[in-house]
Amino acid sequence: MTKTLYKNAKVFTGKNEEFETLDFVVDDKKGNFVEDEKVDQTVDLAGKYVMPGMINAHTHIVADPYGRVTSLGSTATKSPAYTFVALSNLQKLLTDGVTYIRDVGSVFEVDIELATLERQGDLFSPGIVASGYPLTMTGGHFSEGSYEVDGVDEARKYARLLLKKGVGNVKLMATGGVSFDGETPHDIQLTEAELRAAVEQAHHKGRTANAHAQGTEGIQNALRAGVDSIEHAVYLDDETIDMFLQRGTYIVPTLTAPWAMIQEADQLPGFMVQKSLELSEAHSQSIGKAAQAGVPIAMGTDSGTAFNNFDQNSSIELELMVNAGVTNLQVLQAATINAAKLLQIDQKAGTIEVGKLADFIVLDEDPLKDIKVMQKEKTVFKKGIEIK
Ligand SMILES: [Zn+2]
Repeated sequence: MTKTLYKNAKVFTGKNEEFETLDFVVDDKKGNFVEDEKVDQTVDLAGKYVMPGMINAHTHIVADPYGRVTSLGSTATKSPAYTFVALSNLQKLLTDGVTYIRDVGSVFEVDIELATLERQGDLFSPGIVASGYPLTMTGGHFSEGSYEVDGVDEARKYARLLLKKGVGNVKLMATGGVSFDGETPHDIQLTEAELRAAVEQAHHKGRTANAHAQGTEGIQNALRAGVDSIEHAVYLDDETIDMFLQRGTYIVPTLTAPWAMIQEADQLPGFMVQKSLELSEAHSQSIGKAAQAGVPIAMGTDSGTAFNNFDQNSSIELELMVNAGVTNLQVLQAATINAAKLLQIDQKAGTIEVGKLADFIVLDEDPLKDIKVMQKEKTVFKKGIEIK
């Protein structure tokens, strides 16, 4: 066990608004930032930039983005293969600088047990807020990898079942989407009443609920139902942005999901590419407009969808957000303190402060000046341990 003083780095703590020179101490046994007491060693980080580890609020760790071992929303493969893929994806996330995730749709509910193992200290990986199976309507988005629920009673029942199994979040499907044929982003799926029944159960238990929602009407349904975050939020008008602001609801944009499909268009079914192309400009405009209006944003990638990888795309998501009109500072906050608040882990993660997990990234340049720095050489620490 070692206490290390890191000195002379320029640090974005998650609470300040620019990198400022300050020293911090890490105890790699506790895995925390600790008070500046007697230390075993000192590391000089002069010229380096330090920020909290990234938190990715939207992943599907059981899915292989290249579809070789497992694919999104299919139960054709057995659970050991999904667990194998999930463990490998978790390590890739660490190398990109992601030290905490919220997984929002995991076949065989692999994420629930992995979350427990990580929490107990048996698994060295990003921390995990698990959602298990999402709730979708019969035949709805992701129905192969979800519980199909119809009516308020079933929505309540399955939300309670998930909470009994120990999820930290309940994932709900409010509209259609891109990755599956025969539906559009505008399709209304779970009704406002069904969504509300599930959200209430999550909140009664002190947990969160979020909704996949792309079209305006479905987004409004989910907002009125009281979800904590809207995933994707593709089509936003002024009225809808006001609804976010009134309620303090977060947006998790996942811009890399359609971006990755467009990059690999020649290798994908036509419906996926078509729908991605149709929505990507509106999506960027919506996210930029919402951020400028002050809607809280949390970073998420939807990694696990086609060609949407775990080893780079969290860093790329930050660049796509900046391109959409989110400021560099908002982007860093989205990936740290904001995501921590959304996931209700802000008591232990998301900022560089004494008592919190020693999850941090060391960079060579200032990402507030150029966000692409996040995609370059970096050193990542999880609970004070350097990722090799
Ligand atoms: Zn997703």
